[in-house]
This record gives sequence, C-alpha cells and structure tokens, in this order.
Amino acid sequence: MKSIYDLTYEKLQIMFLENSMKKYRSDQCFQWLYRKQIDSFDKMSDLGKETIEWLKNNFYIETLKLVDKQVAKDKTTKYLFELSDGALIETVLMHYSFGKSVCITSQVGCNMGFTFCASGLLKKQRNLSSGEMVAQVLYVNKELLKEDERVRNVVIMGTGEPFDNYDNVIDFCKIINHDKGLAIGARKITISTCGIVPKIYDFSDEKVQYNLAISLHAPNDELRNKLMPINKAYPLEELFKALRYYSEKNNRRLTFEYILLKGVNDQEKHAVQLSKLLKGMNAFVNLIPYNQVDEHGFKSTDDKSALRFYDWLMKNKVKATLRTKHGDDIDAACGQLRAKHERID
Ligand code: SAH
Repeated sequence: MKSIYDLTYEKLQIMFLENSMKKYRSDQCFQWLYRKQIDSFDKMSDLGKETIEWLKNNFYIETLKLVDKQVAKDKTTKYLFELSDGALIETVLMHYSFGKSVCITSQVGCNMGFTFCASGLLKKQRNLSSGEMVAQVLYVNKELLKEDERVRNVVIMGTGEPFDNYDNVIDFCKIINHDKGLAIGARKITISTCGIVPKIYDFSDEKVQYNLAISLHAPNDELRNKLMPINKAYPLEELFKALRYYSEKNNRRLTFEYILLKGVNDQEKHAVQLSKLLKGMNAFVNLIPYNQVDEHGFKSTDDKSALRFYDWLMKNKVKATLRTKHGDDIDAACGQLRAKHERID
C-alpha cells in the first residue's frame, strides 16, 4: 500500500494510465484530495465503483495523529503529531499579517548538529515522505477552513534539513503548489537550507519559483564552523559560489537567516563581515531572535542590541528585517516540543 499523498499530479496521472484507468479520473481524484480534502476514497462520489475499489486496494490516505497542541498568546500554534510508525514530528502555524503560515518538518530528527538548536538533540531517524509533509499542511489547513481561512504560506523550516531529503521535498512542493489542488503559490513556499552545496546547484537548475533561504548565522568560517558543522564540509566560499550560481540562473532574491546570539555573532565586526559577504547580491537578511534552548546555554541578544545590529547592517547597505518573536511562551523553537516528549540519549 502506498500513501496517495506521495504522488504529484503527474505521478498520479501516470499511475492511473498504467493501470488502465481513465486519465480524467486522476484529475478528479487529485481534486477530491486537495480541493475538497476528503479523508476516504468512498467519498469520491463521481469516480465510479471500479476506480474507488482500485484506489482502496492500492493506496491509503495518510492521517496524522495529534499527540499534543500548544497555543501561544499570539496564537502561534504548535502541533505534535505521531506518524504511522510511531515517530513524532512538529508542525507550527503562525499568524502573520500577510497570511497564515505553516512551518513543516522534513525529517524525523536532524543530523546537522547546530550547536544552538533543539532538533539536533535527537538524531535523524529517517526522511519524511512527501505525503507526510503534505499531511501536515492539510491538517492545519482543515483547522483553518473552520474559521474560513486557509494556509497561504509554507516554510520548510521545521526539524530536518530539506536538502538532505531533496527529492521528497521537491515533490512535496509540486503537490501543494499545483493549481488543481491546494494551489499555494510557488513564491509563497520557502525552502530553508543550511547550505548543502551540491543540492543548491541541483535546485538552481530546477528553475522553480520557490523561495530559497539560507541559514547563515555567522559571517566567517571560524565562527560558522563552531555553530554549524556543515560549514566544515561546505565553507562560505563554496557556499557563496553556489548561491551566486543560483542567482544567475534564477534572478530571485535570496533570504539569509541570521539568529542573534548574545555575545557570539552580534558585534559590529560581524555586521561589517556580513555586508562584505553579501556585497553585490540580491539578498535580504532576516534577523531572528533566538528561542532559548536550556540544554545549549546560548542567550538571545536583547532587543536594544538587536536594533543596534540592524542599524549597523543598514549603515553597511544590507537589506534586513528584525523579526519579532513568535510563540516564545510555548516550546516554539525547532524540535523543543518533540524533545520534551522523547527520551534524550
Ligand atoms: N535545516 C534547515 C531547516 C531547519 S532549521 C536550515 O538549516 O535552514 C530552520 C531555522 O531555524 C534555521 O535557520 C535554524 O538555524 C533556526 N533555529 C534552530 N533553532 C533555533 C532556535 N532555538 N531559535 C531560533 N531559531 C532556531
């Protein structure tokens, strides 16, 4: 049995054709799944008995089991789900002025080992299938529909490294983007990577409109090596060579995420180094307040110093925004809620 949510529109169509089903039936099926968001093949009333039987014999419709849900004062909602094999994953809903955003998980656990991140407390167990990522968006979307709302933005910024699960992530994006389904605009989908260089080249060649965000967090190799071990495999020079290739091919603005860690990466010299690194690039820096993770000992830069850092960037002609904290009264940091529910070795 296969999860039907694993299949892109095109793959579903091929599956129908290979099994002597009518092509237009796959179109109807896709719309039942994503427009009407039904949870049983029996409800696909215009598909015909034979097609429904074939679907039931070959596929299942993934449902996530809710284990825990935390709602912050600002309504940021964190869901803890159990997958069919018992693995736990987190999904976050954020309410922005520009629309409801869902942050999804791409792997069970994470091997990137950022020294400040809660997700790395639990090592990677496996990749998520495209369907398991789709199911996260659908679950939240169904809740929003009750309030006459829907998911407008999707960020792949939860636990896991999306470019370490490249094919499934790309199929996931295709599924939620398809105009016969959820139709979440490509420019409303953001993939966040810590910089797996070969995959940045692959992604550049896909010529898709999804946004690319890079978790940078440090403007020099020495510091980045300490915070993010991936930098030892792909140091800044190689990373930026790949990013310039991406920009040439796609003409899209790149987003850089930069968490402000008190006394670690928030000095004027860091702002100057950052400006040199980004010089001439169509780039934008998101300064993110750090959600403290007790196990790691890093502190968040205070608001005044964060503003000062922002000013230094402005002075050095770097485009940036200073993000406000969301949901810091719940376990909102990547991996925090899950870590609480699992034994940490
Ligand atoms: N592996 C991908 C996506 C997951 S991490 C990546 O590296 O981009 C998503 C973002 O959350 C990264 O920028 C990461 O550095 C950040 N993050 C991790 N722990 C955090 C914390 N405690 N507070 C704030 N941001 C955090």
